[in-house]
Amino acid sequence: MELFIGHKLLKRKDGYTVILYLDQELSEFAKDFDEIDSKERIGLERAIRDYIKEKLPNIKVKSINLMVGSLLVASLPFANIGVAKAAEPSQTQTQSLRTYKVESGDTLVKISNKFGTTVSKLKALNGLSSDLIYIGQTLKIPQLQDKTHIVQAGDTLSELARRYNLSLQGLKRTNGLTGDRIYIGQALTIPKQDELPSVKRLPDEVFRVGDRGEGVKAIQIALNDLGYSLVEDGAYGPTTERIVSDFQKQYDALNVDGIYGPKTKEYLAEALLTDHIVLAEPSDTLALVNKNNSLPSNYIPENLVVPDVPFPFTEFHEKKLMREDAARALERLFAKAKEENIALYATSGYRSYDRQKAIFTSKSMRYGLERANQFSAKPGESEHQTGLAMDVTSPKVNFALSQSFGETREGRWLKENAPKFGFIIRYPEGKEEVTGYQYEPWHLRYLGNNHIAYTIASNGATLEEYLGMA
Ligand SMILES: [Zn+2]
Repeated sequence: MELFIGHKLLKRKDGYTVILYLDQELSEFAKDFDEIDSKERIGLERAIRDYIKEKLPNIKVKSINLMVGSLLVASLPFANIGVAKAAEPSQTQTQSLRTYKVESGDTLVKISNKFGTTVSKLKALNGLSSDLIYIGQTLKIPQLQDKTHIVQAGDTLSELARRYNLSLQGLKRTNGLTGDRIYIGQALTIPKQDELPSVKRLPDEVFRVGDRGEGVKAIQIALNDLGYSLVEDGAYGPTTERIVSDFQKQYDALNVDGIYGPKTKEYLAEALLTDHIVLAEPSDTLALVNKNNSLPSNYIPENLVVPDVPFPFTEFHEKKLMREDAARALERLFAKAKEENIALYATSGYRSYDRQKAIFTSKSMRYGLERANQFSAKPGESEHQTGLAMDVTSPKVNFALSQSFGETREGRWLKENAPKFGFIIRYPEGKEEVTGYQYEPWHLRYLGNNHIAYTIASNGATLEEYLGMA
């Protein structure tokens, strides 16, 4: 099945989430997944069913994550796939597609050449499972002209660039923007592009300092996809060399010479394909987010609110936010603390993907990927993005996030009482191997269920162990 280039499995409590990687040839199709009409969706769903039947016949599949590169384009419960009924075609799609009537002598290859598209894209759009077409058949042709995106509340340039598989610089250039500011209602031009995912663009040749060109640029793009922050200028300078070396340092099998060659390519490709296992149900209160399981880059929890608890700072900041259910529980926990003369302060809750990315790229550029990863979560791997986590401290430790907080009266009170309100200390002492994080007596995670929180805490366990994913 040429629609998909591969898959990964993510074990869940009651089955598996299959992460399916769509061929990037179909990226235009995939990006518009929410907009495609029911017929095309049925074609895609049929292809998913066929793929699962052929490749994973003995696995209990709960849901499907459709990926293009590291971009999650859709998350579907498997039970509903392939049984969808015809619905109203969406207007957007009608506008963005042209049609073509098959003539005598046409083949899919000919038609795809005629319209500057590909056979697999044509087949996916039209729900074709073979290359057979007939004269007079109406085929949908993927649009290739530029698209327009009307800026909505909450849009940011970097998020839009990610959504449309563009570089931030490219998006700004196309729209003549010098800064990062956009406004609601602004019409942005999304340039047409048929880019391959970075993993498929990696060149086969050898590159080293002094080289330049598209191949070098492809390497830079791939490294950025891994969390570095290189200028994608196609020039293999000292920075590119340093970052290639940093990447090589992480694998015993690679020479650390800063030269890109076939072996480095192989490991880069592997890293790009395995880097992100993306959660299918990110809003689940029991969602496990760690160095093996990340949140979709476009995941923003609904109902983020500022909990009515003391913070050591007064101005509004994103990090004051929590999901409403977690915020209410935190308020109850803090009220109980106050009753018992325990002075607690909240310092850091929600952390958006963009902020994680900014923090991580600056750290990995300064310290190297491996070191940065020890003390800073890769984008999507921070539990703070769920809106269910809050870092808590007290005046006794000068509002710092330090392990000594665990020894204070406040820290001990928190550990004992948090489960009564549905929270656990997420990174307990002695469980560094399981959680991948140092002991953090300040980091609370809301689980939405007092009983589960109590079970985990009273057994000295972790969320990983509770979910059987340690
Ligand atoms: Zn934290």
